[in-house]
Order: sequence, then C-alpha cells, then structure tokens
Amino acid sequence: MIVAAVGLATTAAAIRLGWRLAKPTTAAPVMPTTWQIGGASMAPTLLGHHVELTCGACGVRWPVHWQANLRPRGPVTCWNCGARVPIGQSLPQAGTAVTLVSRQLDPRPPLTGELVVIAPPLPTDTNRSGPGEISRFIGAGTPGLGAGTRWAVKRVVATAGQQLTHHAGVLLADGRPIAERLAQAAADHPDRVDRPLDILVHDDRHRPGAMSSRWRPLAGSAPPIAVDADGFRLRAQQQDGNWVPSAWLAYHHLAVHDGLRPDVIRDDFPSNATEVRALQPVDRLSLRLRVNAAAGGTVQVLFRLAGQPRATIRTWPAGSCRLDFDSASGEAWSGDVSDFPQPDSAPTPIAIRILTGEGKISELVIRRPLQYRIEAADAVKWTWPLRLSEGQFYVLGDNVPLSIDSRQFGPIGSERIVGRIQPT
Ligand SMILES: [Zn+2]
Repeated sequence: MIVAAVGLATTAAAIRLGWRLAKPTTAAPVMPTTWQIGGASMAPTLLGHHVELTCGACGVRWPVHWQANLRPRGPVTCWNCGARVPIGQSLPQAGTAVTLVSRQLDPRPPLTGELVVIAPPLPTDTNRSGPGEISRFIGAGTPGLGAGTRWAVKRVVATAGQQLTHHAGVLLADGRPIAERLAQAAADHPDRVDRPLDILVHDDRHRPGAMSSRWRPLAGSAPPIAVDADGFRLRAQQQDGNWVPSAWLAYHHLAVHDGLRPDVIRDDFPSNATEVRALQPVDRLSLRLRVNAAAGGTVQVLFRLAGQPRATIRTWPAGSCRLDFDSASGEAWSGDVSDFPQPDSAPTPIAIRILTGEGKISELVIRRPLQYRIEAADAVKWTWPLRLSEGQFYVLGDNVPLSIDSRQFGPIGSERIVGRIQPT
C-alpha cells in the first residue's frame, strides 16, 4: 500500500513538471548499466582519462586530465607546494565507472543536485575540452550501444519554475548561489543527491621539507607555539584563574602559478594542468585538523575572506580527534582586530589558537567548495533572469572552467535526459 501511494504521488508530481510529456530522444538499456566517464567536465567528482602524478618535493599525489587535447606536454606545477613535477612515463588510467539508471526504470523527475545523462545534440567549441561524456560501456549489457554513444553527464542545478541570475560572476538560482542550493539538496535527499566534492587548496601533511610548513606562528606576547616536523603544539596559560589564549597559528598562502608570491586563495582546479585562465579569489573555505591532547580543551579558528572575519570555537576531548571548520558557519568576529594582525607580506586567510588547555595540532587540510561561475562572454548570450519553463532543466558540469553546459547551450528539455547516475 505504501509503495502504491508513493508511486501515485510521484506520477502526479511528474505530470505537473511536464516530465512525462516529452519522450526521451534516446533510450538507455532498461536495467542499470555501467559506463566509464570519458571527458573532464565533471571533475573532480567524476574523472575522465587521467594520470596520477606524485610530487617529488612534497609527496602529494593527484590526478591530471589526459585526453588528447588536455594532456600536459611538459612538467606540471604541484598545486600544493609549487614544485615542477615531470609527467614521466605515466600510463593514462580509465575514467570513473558510473551506473546509469534509465528513465524507463526510474521515471521520477530529476532533482536539483542529481547527476543526469543527457543525449546530443551537444554543441562543440574548439576552445574547450568538450563535455564529460560517458564514452564507454563496460560490463555485460546491450551490445553496440557503447560504441559511438556520446552522451554527457551533467548536474541538474535548477528545475522548472526557478529563476537564474548571476552576480559578480557567480550563478544564482532564485537568488541563492547554486553551490548553496546543491548543499541543501544533498542534505534534504541524501539517498539521491551526493554533495559535489570540495577541491583541495593545501595539505600540510605533505611538506616540501619537514619544517617548511605554510602554517606559522604569528608574533605576539602570548605563550609561544612549538613547531614540530608534523604539527604544532599550542598552549593556553592560566593566569589569576583566567585562561590567556595561545598565540595565533596562521596559514600563509602562496600562488603556485605565480612564482610562489603571497596571495589570496584562488579557484585553482588541480586536475586542469594545461588550462590557462585568470583565477578568481574564493569566498568560502573549510579546514580539517587533528588535535592530540592529554586533556580536553578549546580551540578557535578564524577565517578572513571577503567581508567580515568569522570565528568558530570548538571543544575537544582527551585523546586524538579530528575537527572540521567551515568559514560560512562561524560567528562574526567581534574581537580586537589587533589580536590577529595581517602581516604586510602574506595574506593569512585562516588562523588558529587555543583558548583553554594545550594540545598538538596537525594534519591541517584546507579545501574550498565548488563555486558555479559564468564567464562574461557566456552571460551576454542570455537574457537574465532566465526563468525555466515546464519540463526544462539547467545543467552544469562540476569542472566549472572547462565544462560545456547550460551556460553555453541553455536549459535542456526533459526529452534530452536519458537517465540518471546512481549516487555513490
Ligand atoms: Zn608538491
């Protein structure tokens, strides 16, 4: 009975959205089938052909696209430390394997945040990499369908009735950045929507020299910070029954593509090793760290990006634990700005201090969420706001600088949707 009721509700919703009105232009095999990603447009969530490079200086390992037109011809700059990494004799690896669930099998309309497989026509643009098609059929299934099939995988970011605009290069759906809508969709529908992967900005577990961390204590009169080969020991002090916080431990960002000069953090995509473009400052970061301590205590993390600084205070238990921080979820920083001086020589977007107790902080990893942007050259092609009518979907690739998607070819009709990619 419950199943029938759900089925009826889904059908009603589908008709309201015009989902059943348009038959697909191409049919997928009815049963779920396994495919391989061929292009770069959904990275880092789904990779096309790529090689895994290892930096000889810091040891970090990461994938670089390896299609004919995206293959690096010379050394690649390490996103983590700026060293030049030879491409060597690496053999390309196949793209991510994904499971396609056809519309015949699951006729529910796609949700915001879901990955869908769309059928041609896809426009070509010789200046870009091309859509991240699912290019190869692996495993048992319908013979013949794989060869020559150039379907593309894209992420649904807006559906019928929604209004798209852009502000300062960032795409908005009903007034909110698309990245925020996708995070909300993943929280609302965890069974159907995966959150896009965050992109690595810096990983202190991989240093070019044992003591050459970008995290450094800021000078001050507070209790000093002891620097280890794999972390930092911070200590708050008790004075007349009150805690005096430790000194600040600050991250100093360097531009790996610009001679390692001090810079703000920008929207680099480490996998896009051959792409040349102007990088944009990021407006949101996350930080993961480990605390080892004999007793519980309190740590404060301060993010300074565009706008007002934001701070988060967290407690840790005795022992070892990992803590996650997000620049968007802290409290507006109301402390004395002189507590957190900005050195002239280096932008310091993140700083940490211990408010009570003492502990060792290590394994500092900074990431940034994907921000879905539109280039001015693409924005002028459309009349904004762009309202999606019945049966229309706005679809984007997660590899924002390279993907060809609704920013170029506009919203797509439901007849172009072959099926969806099963979430992992
Ligand atoms: Zn490196």
